[in-house]
Amino acid sequence: MKSKVLAALRSRKGYVSGQELCENLGVSRAAVWKGVQKLKQEGYRIEAIPNKGYCLMDSPDVLNAEELKNFRKTAWAGTQIVYYDVTDSTNIQAKRLAEEGASHGTLVVAGRQEAGRGRRGRSWESPEKDGIFMTLLLRPDFKPKEASMLTIVAAMAVTKAIQTMYGIRAGIKWPNDIVLNGKKICGILTEMNTEIDAINYVVVGIGINVSNRKFESEASFIATSLEAESGKTIHRAKLIAAVLEQFEFYYDKFCKAKDLSDIMEEYNRYLVNMDKQVRILDPKEPFTGISRGITEKGELIVTAENGTKLVSSGEVSVRGIYGYV
Ligand code: ATP
Repeated sequence: MKSKVLAALRSRKGYVSGQELCENLGVSRAAVWKGVQKLKQEGYRIEAIPNKGYCLMDSPDVLNAEELKNFRKTAWAGTQIVYYDVTDSTNIQAKRLAEEGASHGTLVVAGRQEAGRGRRGRSWESPEKDGIFMTLLLRPDFKPKEASMLTIVAAMAVTKAIQTMYGIRAGIKWPNDIVLNGKKICGILTEMNTEIDAINYVVVGIGINVSNRKFESEASFIATSLEAESGKTIHRAKLIAAVLEQFEFYYDKFCKAKDLSDIMEEYNRYLVNMDKQVRILDPKEPFTGISRGITEKGELIVTAENGTKLVSSGEVSVRGIYGYV
């Protein structure tokens, strides 16, 4: 009943009379009233005015498939939504769904992850209600070597979504970290399943720290959350919807150009290491140089003592000379 009342209130901008709700839902006034009370207890702000009826003023930060569907405004991203209160990792679930035939644009979201991962198998702290844990499944028709550029597309999308929704201007640490006040608020993990020369599917996992105040072990030195830094209240379902919207926008640009040429200038404006000295932690040969932005293929241009180098993501991490950024 509660969900039906919520859907009915959402389908109308403004007030709906109790009588109309009863008739449309085929239930008694008492049942409608009970549904409204339950919603209020969950944090939905519903105004009730005699002779006018009920009006939904605001929704709380509740995460479930219904809320995600309600705020989604995209053409293809998130047309299928799979939500888990708890899962191992949204990337693992997205890959499983992909094997079962799930379509391009399927979105997997979890309230908490028990085995969230970053690059190179490192763990991603994913506590309940404190973060966004989402994975988008893509079935692109480009070549496997082009898929790593999707990390850049996703980083751009998340950064823009945060800015558009909350006016918070975060930066990007190449290739896949989003940084606020010098600390990490988001990580992106792109994984793919390929044939020799074709992609079966790609999963783009995005973890955003929304309200964490504490982090464990090594993350405690480099991590922070949107709420901790900005003092703003973040609504996860709305932010996820904004990320999807921005992802579609940049993904379409990427598909048209077949590379990052229409995105790289904007990406470079958000690059926290732009024109700064960086340490490239290449397991084969670490080196230091000045970062000069990305190429249309997503490599980082670094001018080092012995010439200019193009660094591909993969196994490489970038650090500032004096710390994380
Ligand atoms: P870098 O290139 O800077 O080394 P990365 O891109 O390889 O980072 P990720 O794959 O994004 O790293 O994430 C894994 C790392 O992030 C872990 O080693 C851990 O230190 C840190 N970490 C784990 N959980 C979180 C979190 N919730 N927020 C921020 N950082 C985290």
